[in-house]
Amino acid sequence: MNSTLPTTARSGSADGAALLQVTDLVRHYALPRETLFAPPPLVKALNGVSFSVQAGRSLGIVGESGSGKSTIARLVMALDAPTSGSVRLEGRDLNALSKAELRTARRDFQMVFQDPYGSLDPRQTVARIVAEPLDALAEASSRKEQRERAAESLAAVGLRSTDLDKYPHEFSGGQRQRIAIARALITRPKLIVADEPVSALDVSVQAQVLNLMQDLQQQFGISYLLISHDLAVVNHLCDDVAVVFKGQIVEQGRPGDLFREAQHPYTRTLLSAVLQTP
Ligand code: ADP
Ligand code: MG
Repeated sequence: MNSTLPTTARSGSADGAALLQVTDLVRHYALPRETLFAPPPLVKALNGVSFSVQAGRSLGIVGESGSGKSTIARLVMALDAPTSGSVRLEGRDLNALSKAELRTARRDFQMVFQDPYGSLDPRQTVARIVAEPLDALAEASSRKEQRERAAESLAAVGLRSTDLDKYPHEFSGGQRQRIAIARALITRPKLIVADEPVSALDVSVQAQVLNLMQDLQQQFGISYLLISHDLAVVNHLCDDVAVVFKGQIVEQGRPGDLFREAQHPYTRTLLSAVLQTP
């Protein structure tokens, strides 16, 4: 069904490959058998999802809870393997890489999670948390270099180098999400996958974090795969939006076009939820 969706041709990277190309992604989870001889029941979380992201552009994935958004994020980050289908970053199939190759490739794509409380280790200093992605890379291997890079990253998200020796509990929710973004930035990634990055934050703080993400996009040419149940959040940051419903993309387009003339009844339901929000 995805192959029938209109796609917009855009210039890609030099070799023509998209920054991110997701093709026919399927992920079924087998649940424990109910009886010894019964086949394991399947949760069909994703049923053939395809999309691409060109360098420097951003795609929003919207859909209600349980539609498969976080499953997409985990597969794109190679934190989970698909039942079938492929995830290619600049043409490289992530599932075909060796562990060592994947470790190096991780420099190019980083993740920001929803929960700024749960995703930062409370026992680590900000310096260690932010520098952690560097551990897997050969560069910046000394603690001193890592600390310098962490300080640069913190500056980019509007925090101070005096914050390096503090712990997560000393920060507000919005500041913690800035720390999570600083960690994602430290490898200078091409793609940041952000799964509900502002859902846990107050609305006024949401706008600040989204504006920061927008600034970073312009400054560093980052692409986002921004996942949200909230069309307004995606509209803030993304060039294109894909609407996910029951593990499939039912509609894809520019956010403005979707707001004006959503085709799929499910998109209209999402829109009415946005319009009812005060
Ligand atoms: P969303 O992020 O849009 O809320 P998810 O991708 O988390 O949706 O989940 C999609 C579907 O897959 C849901 O029905 C969820 O219960 C199921 N699911 C997700 N992860 C697992 C898992 N590890 N085992 C079994 N079912 C899962
Ligand atoms: Mg989710």
